[in-house]
Amino acid sequence: FDEVLVEGSVLAHYVAERNHYDELLDELFRSSGEARNMIGSRCIWHINSTAFGGGVAEMLPHHICLLRELGFDVRWLIFKPKEEQFFQFTKALHNSLHDVKVAGLNDLLPHYLEASKKGAAELERIIRPDDFVLIHDPQPLVAAAKFLESHPHPAIWRCHIGYPKRTPTVDKIWEFLGEYLHQFQRIVLSAKEYAFDTDVPIDIIPPSISPFSSKNRNYEGPAGQTLDHSVSFNSQEFEPTPSLQDILGSRYFLHVSRWDGLKGIDRIIAAYDRFVKSALAEAYDTRLVIAGPDPLDVADDPEGREYFEKCVLLCTQLSKEVRRRVYLVCISMKDHDANAEIVGRLQQNAHGVFALSREEGFGLTATEALFRGKPVVVSSAFGLKRQVVNGLNGVVLDEPDIEDKAAEMMHHLAVGYSDFEEMARTAREHCLRSSTQISQIPKWYHSIQSALS
Ligand code: UDP
Repeated sequence: FDEVLVEGSVLAHYVAERNHYDELLDELFRSSGEARNMIGSRCIWHINSTAFGGGVAEMLPHHICLLRELGFDVRWLIFKPKEEQFFQFTKALHNSLHDVKVAGLNDLLPHYLEASKKGAAELERIIRPDDFVLIHDPQPLVAAAKFLESHPHPAIWRCHIGYPKRTPTVDKIWEFLGEYLHQFQRIVLSAKEYAFDTDVPIDIIPPSISPFSSKNRNYEGPAGQTLDHSVSFNSQEFEPTPSLQDILGSRYFLHVSRWDGLKGIDRIIAAYDRFVKSALAEAYDTRLVIAGPDPLDVADDPEGREYFEKCVLLCTQLSKEVRRRVYLVCISMKDHDANAEIVGRLQQNAHGVFALSREEGFGLTATEALFRGKPVVVSSAFGLKRQVVNGLNGVVLDEPDIEDKAAEMMHHLAVGYSDFEEMARTAREHCLRSSTQISQIPKWYHSIQSALS
């Protein structure tokens, strides 16, 4: 375990923009007073498996800052076993929970259990008798459960993964995880449709964003960051690999995610191929930027490198005319603020943001784009469909033939951007009211208080 030190002040930003957050702030202060009586001075430990990359790492820093400013003792631990097989197991489990059949789970299981056993022993030295434990996702679940078995503490399991259907593959995984949930008083899921068979009470809290994080804040002036590693497919007859500033100055559609087959990056590439081939001359100017973390920096996602290479291969197979307009951007995760600034600026300047995931429990990148007031086009993966109401705050594309439909949307955006402006305004207003972290904190108090009572 490593502790991540979090500091900063977030609350003052909300107060300074009271006109947007008035009611939410009133509710926040009211519920904080009540929660302080119950939670008191006990420490709340958030435990997940990475400080960089992915939705959980994105949400925790400002969530923790806010709670500290509201008078709570909150700390953050990362459970990061060195064994490669540990994360191979948890990634396979992640895929299986999305009903993707994966071989080798049984062979990898002993590595996961062994690392979890060591983790449990380590937790004995860290967690004090009165502390509260808040575990995120399956990676640290078993270590925490084994620790809690011998050292009971009030505890919540927050599972960010969700799948709305029951299938034999999915049920088998819930059954396995369910064995370790008896030590927890509550489970928190992103949507009620993700509930599975368990005796532990379930609370629903959708993920949320911080309007003031380096990712979501408004950027002005030239970018202070450079791209360490980007792949563009220009041959010598075209311009050299562009700088971040060049990309930001051009017109482009954007996709942001980890390099992961479920994110549907191949579908965006295929859609863009169709768009360029069929586009009018004026639409030619719109490029495609696919941005994700440098896969070598994301320890808990061992498939990232392989999938990134698959995306490179897909791009090299495009015709010259198409591929010279595509940029695959790998952003180092070593400097969190630099990464966030690059992603945030790419989102801010995009001519439309696409998320065509095959499966998605909740797509934080879609909410980030909605918050920025961008036209957002998503697949009908369950989580995305809940975030975007077709025609109201964005566009939802149904299966099948999603690549054709996405190509049409690219065309529409390229030649008729103003048709999307009302939707984008609605998207931003809706996010301000219901997707910021202060809107969800009262729900967290409720769960924590229920776990304590
Ligand atoms: N992200 C990032 N840098 C990258 C790629 C992604 O900071 O290079 C962030 C992205 O902005 C979002 C999170 O990682 O906040 C991804 O969350 P999402 O729910 O979309 O997907 P997950 O990775 O959790 O499956």
